[in-house]
Amino acid sequence: MTERTNLRRLPERGSHDREVIDAILREALICHVGFADDAGRPVVIPTIHALVGDTLYLHGSVASRMLRTIGDGANVCVNATIVDGLVMARSHFHHSMNYRSVVLFGTARLVDDPAEKDRAFAAIVDHIARGRWEDARQPSPVEDRQTMVVAVSIDEASAKARTGGPHDDADDYELDVWAGVIPVQATYGEPVPDPDTTREVPLPAYLDGYRRGSL
Ligand SMILES: Cc1cc2nc3c(=O)[nH]c(=O)nc-3n(C[C@H](O)[C@H](O)[C@H](O)COP(=O)(O)OP(=O)(O)OC[C@H]3O[C@@H](n4cnc5c(N)ncnc54)[C@H](O)[C@@H]3O)c2cc1C
Repeated sequence: MTERTNLRRLPERGSHDREVIDAILREALICHVGFADDAGRPVVIPTIHALVGDTLYLHGSVASRMLRTIGDGANVCVNATIVDGLVMARSHFHHSMNYRSVVLFGTARLVDDPAEKDRAFAAIVDHIARGRWEDARQPSPVEDRQTMVVAVSIDEASAKARTGGPHDDADDYELDVWAGVIPVQATYGEPVPDPDTTREVPLPAYLDGYRRGSL
């Protein structure tokens, strides 16, 4: 850890433990990638990611401005956030959110090696639903050429989490204001088969009762 990932406000909510960081990156469906554009202006783009060891993989079209810009060794900052609750305090000031978040700093590089590119594809597909890579059709050579993969080394990272109820001022506990937490959970509904399906294919076990936390 350096000054860059030193949490200044409420550092007791922070962690630099890779297990904590990795669990958040695995559960979060998406991340936001911050980088400098060609004119040096900051830009933040949401995208899918997958974690493999110390590397975060990003993928997209070969026309992706983000991937083309960062693939040449750019420094990037990536954030992933899971919101767990809305914290209703008795005062406006103490309203908050419960969350788990990661901020990581890394260096991006274009993935040229076909074997590494394949591993990255698999990790990204399985990040959405583990088991999907083995089940669905593999990319054709044309699809492979149309897809760019960028690896971001995790040079440094921090996690931060808030849990629990509101922290009101002592006098405010006497107020007639409801206080507490509204839990937030992503719910995944019953899978809806594609109406264009031409064959009866049973729902695979890995999609039955889909839940992120179980990944
Ligand atoms: C859903 C959500 C809502 C939030 N709402 C607010 C809000 O309304 N106002 C507000 O001030 N803050 C909010 N925060 C907290 C915010 O992300 C920062 O933690 C906070 O601004 C304090 O930053 P700092 O000055 O300590 O750190 P900074 O000086 O900004 O950052 C220093 C380093 O600390 C680490 N760090 C800082 N924040 C995080 C984080 N959230 N996760 C992981 N690492 C982190 C990074 O490595 C960063 O480089 C929210 C966070 C989340 C996830």
